[in-house]
Amino acid sequence: MEGKPQIRSIVSGVTASRALIEAALEHRADALLVHHGYFWRDENPCVVGIKHHRLKLLLQNDISLFAYHLPLDHHPELGNNAQLAALLGLQPDGRFGENELGWLGTVPAALARNAGELAALVELRLGRKPLLVGDPAQPLRRVGWCSGAAQGLLAEAAAAGADVFLSGEISEQTAHVAREAGIAYLACGHHATERLGVQALGERVAAEFGIRHRFIDIDNPA
Ligand SMILES: [Zn+2]
Repeated sequence: MEGKPQIRSIVSGVTASRALIEAALEHRADALLVHHGYFWRDENPCVVGIKHHRLKLLLQNDISLFAYHLPLDHHPELGNNAQLAALLGLQPDGRFGENELGWLGTVPAALARNAGELAALVELRLGRKPLLVGDPAQPLRRVGWCSGAAQGLLAEAAAAGADVFLSGEISEQTAHVAREAGIAYLACGHHATERLGVQALGERVAAEFGIRHRFIDIDNPA
């Protein structure tokens, strides 16, 4: 969405919610950079209610909105999955699933030797306690991960050779699939696993163009 012609300051955040737009206004941002934007597939396209209020706030205040969804999960350096690997010390060596959105790799034994230790590492570094489905003693030869709502990739992660799969959300069937596919699953939070890419992109843009950048975390328990 187009705002004022010059951008000197950007605010980044996970979702272009009303709270984030208000925070951007408070910080006098010229542009907002997010992972979750507007107009999703199959969404009602009418600009009413919540969407009306959000768009009105942006338009009235001439704030540009830049939203990058899957490219910001996928990017090999700045993406959520690359940044998640860097934060947790995972060593990527492969991809799997549709559009190769799932990442595969190993965890150094010094960081975690089994699923339970990986869960503790996630809690320490992401600041959020994950939900572990499976045996905490499950050894970690191969790990798969994909930020956000990628619980549907679980069976493919198992088929690709992962002993543990890490993503954001969990559905009812996820627990059954994990048990039957013989893979441990770590639900680490959709929001918690998607805070990193937009921050890395914001920092890169700020350095490249000599502008200010501030990440604002609007807490979300999901
Ligand atoms: Zn997401």
